[in-house]
Amino acid sequence: MSKVVKFGGSSLASAEQFEKVGKIIRSDKERRYVVPSAPGKRFSEDIKVTDMLYSCYALAEEGKDFSKELEAIKERYNGIIEGLKLKLSLDDRFEEIKKQFAAKAGKDYAASRGEFLNGIIMANYLGYEFLDAAEVVFFNEKGEFDAAKTDAVLSERLQTMSNVVVPGFYGSNPDGSVRTFSRGGSDITGSIVAKAAKVDVYENWTDVSGILIADPRIIKDPVGIEVITYKELRELAYMGFNVLHEDAIFPVRQMGIPINIRNTNAPMDEGTWIVGSTCQKSKYTVTGIAGKKGFCSINIEKDMMNSEIGFGRKVLQAFEENGISFEHVPSGIDTMTVFVHQDEFMHKEQKVVSAINRLAKPDVIEIEADLALIAVVGRGMKSTRGTAGRIFSALAHNNVNVKMIDQGSSEQNIIIGVANEDFETAIKAIYDIFVSTRL
Ligand code: ASP
Repeated sequence: MSKVVKFGGSSLASAEQFEKVGKIIRSDKERRYVVPSAPGKRFSEDIKVTDMLYSCYALAEEGKDFSKELEAIKERYNGIIEGLKLKLSLDDRFEEIKKQFAAKAGKDYAASRGEFLNGIIMANYLGYEFLDAAEVVFFNEKGEFDAAKTDAVLSERLQTMSNVVVPGFYGSNPDGSVRTFSRGGSDITGSIVAKAAKVDVYENWTDVSGILIADPRIIKDPVGIEVITYKELRELAYMGFNVLHEDAIFPVRQMGIPINIRNTNAPMDEGTWIVGSTCQKSKYTVTGIAGKKGFCSINIEKDMMNSEIGFGRKVLQAFEENGISFEHVPSGIDTMTVFVHQDEFMHKEQKVVSAINRLAKPDVIEIEADLALIAVVGRGMKSTRGTAGRIFSALAHNNVNVKMIDQGSSEQNIIIGVANEDFETAIKAIYDIFVSTRL
């Protein structure tokens, strides 16, 4: 048995946090592959090292003096090294970074140093080998992650190593320059390493004891999710759950490796298991409730629309021509509604409307702004009758007007459109009906 353990920035923000991480790793021999993030915030007003690196590099790029800013970053690392009483100096590394910044090595190179340096400290602290992610994680000419090449090279390298630290968040371009994933991308590295090393579990350590059923900013002390499938999580992540980077699911999903989200500050908690499939029923009918504000709906009406072949395609072409992606397209007999992100659509609104008029020749087009979408997700919904009924009566009791309903064919996801101002009330009503009253 072996495990990948990925630690997020808050788990590695200080020497004290590193000590907790050290204890976790040493308590289980199977934790052989370690993927660290850069040091995160130690307190709420603190600045993440990644953000410090971005601002420091912005100065370098403008040809301004960046020595004070780089010194502040060095102090963050030296604080950790001293706190852990390590015999390690990063002076040479910082000399090199200074040179590269002056030579304008790029924003990605700059940001990646956060994980790179933390990886060196982690390897030294644990007595593990260090493997630079630039040597084993690859992007192609188009800047996309090259899964096949990465997996081939990385799995071969890992076969020769028993205990290793691979810094998260970055890899290299075909020309050897450094490239990062999008923010939070160390989660992806963890998943890539898990796949290449063919581990049994990918543990993702953070500062919460797993994934919560609903957003704690809306629901006070929501209950945690014990087991969730990749598919459910993907639906929820899309709607705003941000415990794990959404692209982190793909590599492990292919291999069926479960992800266990754990809390560095409460290591005894079981956390949440993200799995391929499970016979474990979720405690409640719904597994999670997520949502986002800021949508706009474009309602299109045309008599006999249902018999006009290609109508939907023409409408969607109007959005495509203007580079706007659509979120949902519920339709009726002579109506079709397209949901889009308001901020993306706003500036192009009239162009899209005239394109719809030109291409599809509808009778009426109406636009409604300031809408929110809520996803109620759960594998248990498939086998439970009346879920939709319960949701809508709960919303009605709370005076929430439902603007749109869309049930995915998977029967695991019901999407509801409401006005932005009803968003919180709607989430609370749905949470109460399923969780607080335990239905
Ligand atoms: N350090 C990077 C960030 O702040 C990547 C990560 O933590 O996953 O986004």
